[in-house]
Amino acid sequence: MKGERTRAIHLGEDPLETQHGDIVPPIHVAVTFAKKSVRDVESGYVYSRTSNPTRDVLERKLAGLERGKCGFAFSSGLAAEATILLSILRSGDKIVALDDLYGGTKRLFRILEGRFGVRVRYVDATNLHALEKAVGEGARIVWIETPSNPLLKIVDIREAARIAHESGAFLVVDNTFATPVFQKPLTLGADIVIHSATKYLSGHSDILAGAAVAVEEELCEGIGFMQNALGAVLSPHDSWLLLRSIKTLPARMRIHESNAKTIAEWLERDDRVEKVYYPGLSSHPGHDVARRQMAGYSGMVSFEIKGGPEVAVRFVESLRLFHLAESLGGVESLVEIPSLMTHASVPREERLRLGIGDSLIRMSVGIEDVEDLISDIETALKRAFEQ
Ligand SMILES: *Cc1c(COP(=O)(O)O)cnc(C)c1O
Repeated sequence: MKGERTRAIHLGEDPLETQHGDIVPPIHVAVTFAKKSVRDVESGYVYSRTSNPTRDVLERKLAGLERGKCGFAFSSGLAAEATILLSILRSGDKIVALDDLYGGTKRLFRILEGRFGVRVRYVDATNLHALEKAVGEGARIVWIETPSNPLLKIVDIREAARIAHESGAFLVVDNTFATPVFQKPLTLGADIVIHSATKYLSGHSDILAGAAVAVEEELCEGIGFMQNALGAVLSPHDSWLLLRSIKTLPARMRIHESNAKTIAEWLERDDRVEKVYYPGLSSHPGHDVARRQMAGYSGMVSFEIKGGPEVAVRFVESLRLFHLAESLGGVESLVEIPSLMTHASVPREERLRLGIGDSLIRMSVGIEDVEDLISDIETALKRAFEQ
């Protein structure tokens, strides 16, 4: 199986291995499994927190798509992150992280800093010299997100892996925005890939889930041990639903990308727009690295609108097809203003230093017909500038 669409559908599944030849993996709801003899109590499935047949199918598919050896499904992206962190860190260890990380990840890091003496150093990891310097002072984990949120910064994964490994650190890559369809960090040297599967992997804004995939035996064992110890596993029903979603992931991603690219180019030509952030545009500072390490640029577009924050608010409130909501990655288009919504808890000065201005708008471009989306944007822009 070479093709991404074939793999998304068939990986990890074999109907002939099910009891009745089910074309779709059955949902195994049992939490415990009966044995014939006390001699077998440790064999096969024992208890569903440790492993469950439906979750297993999903975990095999996740591992295969990311080109890893072991996959793990969690009850949310943050549950996956917490499990990874606890399986690797000791008190006093240091994390070097991209400055533009998902807010919930930074909150987890703050807890580790405050209560367990873990040291966290944020750097603009698009600057490899800055990253090298920070990691050179000792680190246990290098944690990056690429493309990042909301500025879609691109970090060179191969170089970040080299820098991490030279200092004996693990590289963790949050691959939520790219998905394995467009980027496979493990093939570029990363040690662990994590996902908020709530986003593109689910794709329908109806599952909260997380995923982690690793290659190395020791990491696989450590994560599996901690997954069972903490117990933030994905339920059998949600595992089945996520399996169903992933079968259309490559097909969906292709449309997300082509719509996002069309919209990014359209916005870049419009003189009411100050600046567009999309890694597929040659004007994007990370474009060359993105072209090397990604097979596509995914479906997120951010831009700064002219006229100030009031115009930004009028614009997002005038859109009809783009719903005003946090989150991303679903088939329906969403829009938000990071300074007022997803990043409202970041102090303004820090936000501005990161480049997240008050007039920045983030769009999760869905898979609707792009002509309809552009006509929605066009109408909302007119309304926003009329008043
Ligand atoms: C949403 C998100 C998370 C957190 O995932 P949950 O499923 O909401 O717990 C982590 N990283 C990124 C990049 C995200 O967008």
